[in-house]
Amino acid sequence: MSEPIAAARAAGRTLLTEVESKELLHGAGIPVTVSKLATTADEAAKIARSIGYPVVMKVVSGDIAHKSDVGGVMLGLKTAKAVKDGFEEMMSRVKANAPGAKIDGVAVQQMAESGTEVIVGLTTDPQFGHVMMFGLGGIFVEVLKDVAFRIVPLEPRDASQLVREIKAFPVLEGVRGQAGADVAALERLLLQVSEFAVAHPEVRELDLNPVIARPDGVIAVDARVVLTEA
Ligand code: ADP
Ligand code: MG
Repeated sequence: MSEPIAAARAAGRTLLTEVESKELLHGAGIPVTVSKLATTADEAAKIARSIGYPVVMKVVSGDIAHKSDVGGVMLGLKTAKAVKDGFEEMMSRVKANAPGAKIDGVAVQQMAESGTEVIVGLTTDPQFGHVMMFGLGGIFVEVLKDVAFRIVPLEPRDASQLVREIKAFPVLEGVRGQAGADVAALERLLLQVSEFAVAHPEVRELDLNPVIARPDGVIAVDARVVLTEA
């Protein structure tokens, strides 16, 4: 059993933190912004220096599902002072917005350059097993429900069809002078997630929300893994 899964099992948890989820995915060769846990402001600044600025800080808590809703995400921190001050500010803000949540600390990670945000998800269907979901982030999924599904495992042809099935596919090709996305890299990511699902039957759900897709590659900046009941 891989280490993050063993740690969650030992603690009787089915939800992996972002730090654990990314460690697991990184180990499977899936492109993620690896994030490290800091429990003090000084530790956060030390991690930021080793990663290189700008960095992103996020609250780490098993009780908080949507970090930005409680003021738990800070982007584009450029100096050690910004990181240290940000750590204290985030702690007091999150404690005020999510009273009673157990906070493990703050995750520090590389800030990805902007691009088109897409979502890759896995769910488990009682009949078909792992099912993969793909769509564009934000209103495309939440309001327009513009998503496509495939049963795992995916063949290269499935990955190619999955990205092209959504109505918003032209956005990924680049429209009106806007940069498109590296579609081949996205297809590779879908195949890697499919392999990951096959290798981990104990993973019940996976959310990569968002994956930032740019002309020069793709990277998941948020990840959430849910395990089956032990
Ligand atoms: P939430 O728990 O609210 O979903 P996320 O980790 O998805 O928190 O962060 C919220 C948003 O911040 C993302 O949708 C993305 O736009 C941006 N973001 C998060 N992490 C990064 C990063 N490492 N680099 C660049 N942008 C990021
Ligand atoms: Mg997210």
